[in-house]
Amino acid sequence: MVPMQHPAMPIALEAVATAMSITRAVQHRLQEVSGHLKDDRSPVTVADYAAQAVVSMLLREGLSDQGLRRIVGEEDGGELSRPNNAALLDAVTAAVRLWRGDVSQAQVLEAIDACNHDASGDCWWTLDPVDGTKGFLRGGQYAIALGLIVDGQVHAGVLGCPNLSVDPGKDPAAADSEGSGMLYGAQQGLGAWEFRDGDPAATPMRITCPAWTDDKSIRCCASVESHHTNKGQTSELLDAFENDRIMVRLDSQAKYAVLARGQADAYLRLPTRDDYRECIWDHAAGALVATEAGAVVTDVRGKELDFTTGQRLQNNRGVIAAADGLQQRLIERAVAMGVGSP
Ligand code: AMP
Ligand code: MG
Repeated sequence: MVPMQHPAMPIALEAVATAMSITRAVQHRLQEVSGHLKDDRSPVTVADYAAQAVVSMLLREGLSDQGLRRIVGEEDGGELSRPNNAALLDAVTAAVRLWRGDVSQAQVLEAIDACNHDASGDCWWTLDPVDGTKGFLRGGQYAIALGLIVDGQVHAGVLGCPNLSVDPGKDPAAADSEGSGMLYGAQQGLGAWEFRDGDPAATPMRITCPAWTDDKSIRCCASVESHHTNKGQTSELLDAFENDRIMVRLDSQAKYAVLARGQADAYLRLPTRDDYRECIWDHAAGALVATEAGAVVTDVRGKELDFTTGQRLQNNRGVIAAADGLQQRLIERAVAMGVGSP
């Protein structure tokens, strides 16, 4: 059993699991889904909007506490409500109707827009409805990530990985089209838990990331997208170790889950630009799952991730997450190399 759950946890798990089933259905019909360009030119799809709508509806219907009804979501409904996006809104509404048949377009738009909290105050959720949209579009890994921030700390996290295999022996970089994905829940101080088949009613299994021993190869996760992490510095950093290395390239916070369940030893996200600051929704849930499994997560200079600075981690640069023992050595090397220094 999961010990002493936060009362919001069952609802958060249900919300992410429901969103997973919708994104899976949309991904299966990927041919019909057009990558639509947002103002920042990152692809956003029907699945992103539909997942945000569903999580927003379920959290706000199920929770009465004011703080627990505040959501900082990645998507905003502004563009979706423009007349030239009517077909996209139709498709998003159709996707949400896979779960709730009588939902109206107005309800869908309202739910997406309700995730517009500004990351101020002492209690709120942060949501990435489809993290790793590029992975989603290429049929690879992606995640639905929901973190609860209380007093500037990630208090609880739920991470849905719809294409991650239940079998830790399978290559996590390859999407598992047979299964139903994996669901993770973590609470500060209470451990990280895995629910097979993305099913919150499944018996939760505690996951651990074993401490590092120097006698094995280093399995290291990193982004597929080369502008999200510095590949040259990653190799240079790992060159300091005599151990063989196996790079595991996959999109999204599924990297944190893969580390947390001991399928990898490290997740390196080394900055490619001086001015980039990581988004809170790209790390809150995943970082807690990894930490609660026993891994160590900091930025590239060894600083704790600071969730008190709005929608971006203004006080941090990149991320180095790894098994205890290895993480500290990676930080030593990163600091010596000047990674993330202006
Ligand atoms: P990943 O799937 O791990 O490669 O990360 C996907 C996330 O990378 C997206 O959700 C973006 O918010 C984020 N991202 C966009 N540009 C950058 C960048 N220059 N450096 C790091 N992350 C970025
Ligand atoms: Mg993201």
